[in-house]
Amino acid sequence: MRVFYADQFVLPLPPGHRFPMEKYRLLRDRLAAEVPDIQLMRAEPATDGELALVHRPGYIQGISEGTVDPSIMREIGFPWSQAMADRARRSVGATIAACRAAFQDGIAANIAGGTHHAYAEKGGGFCVFNDAAVAIRLMQAEHGRHSRRPLKVAIVDLDVHQGNGTARIFRDDTSVFTLSLHGAKNFPFRKEPGDLDVDLPDGTGDEAYLHALEHALEELGQRFDPALVIYLAGADPHEGDRLGRLKLTWDGLEARDRRVFDWAWQRGLPLAFAMAGGYGHRIEDTVQVQVNTFAAAASYARRWHNRPR
Ligand SMILES: [Zn+2]
Repeated sequence: MRVFYADQFVLPLPPGHRFPMEKYRLLRDRLAAEVPDIQLMRAEPATDGELALVHRPGYIQGISEGTVDPSIMREIGFPWSQAMADRARRSVGATIAACRAAFQDGIAANIAGGTHHAYAEKGGGFCVFNDAAVAIRLMQAEHGRHSRRPLKVAIVDLDVHQGNGTARIFRDDTSVFTLSLHGAKNFPFRKEPGDLDVDLPDGTGDEAYLHALEHALEELGQRFDPALVIYLAGADPHEGDRLGRLKLTWDGLEARDRRVFDWAWQRGLPLAFAMAGGYGHRIEDTVQVQVNTFAAAASYARRWHNRPR
């Protein structure tokens, strides 16, 4: 399974900053050591033209040059730096590359990404550009060169926070279905209506979560017929998360991942996944959730590889 990374560009953050930047490197090291079927590849940065499929040119320029409005930088929550701007581009590039690889191999991943709080004109909540949205628009544009029917894409967003930016970007777009399961009382406090939103109460555990996911996937399958799935495998519904407010166990999260992978596999749909959030009291716990996601995904990659054609 091909996995794309952008973490050679580490963001310089002030001491005590609450974003656990080191989780990407920890994850990459553990994947290299423990999941042998994974091919780690460096992502190319997304170009201005690719970003402009979703984002306003003025915002792209503002991020690139460090001239973006300070109030927007405060909403993003990172201080501006050239490394931040480069990394944000690379992370979008990693999701684009993962989508292309998924069309060939069935399943592929971005080791970062899932920056679903970014809107066309502004970022927020540790998200600069919306990687999934840019990748979708680009895949649709490439698909449009040889087909007149639009490429239909489903986003299955299981980060604990609502994918507000994504929902807004695709609000009037019938070619993209946005599904989000998230904490009702969690950030963002003003949610954007997506195609299917499932609000979960604080403290939701494995059983109730998996039940809600089952229903949501069933409804997605009834209402929409995608040709590509993008999965945001947030680690922040884990019970050890500082920000998540839900109570999923290791087993519950692995069952969640397998349910999504199964859903796509049974329909023969290529699936690209990104990490999205994870803010464990112990950073190792967040990384463990993510390693488990990759280990499960690698077993689906073998199925794709061995399937009769
Ligand atoms: Zn999150």
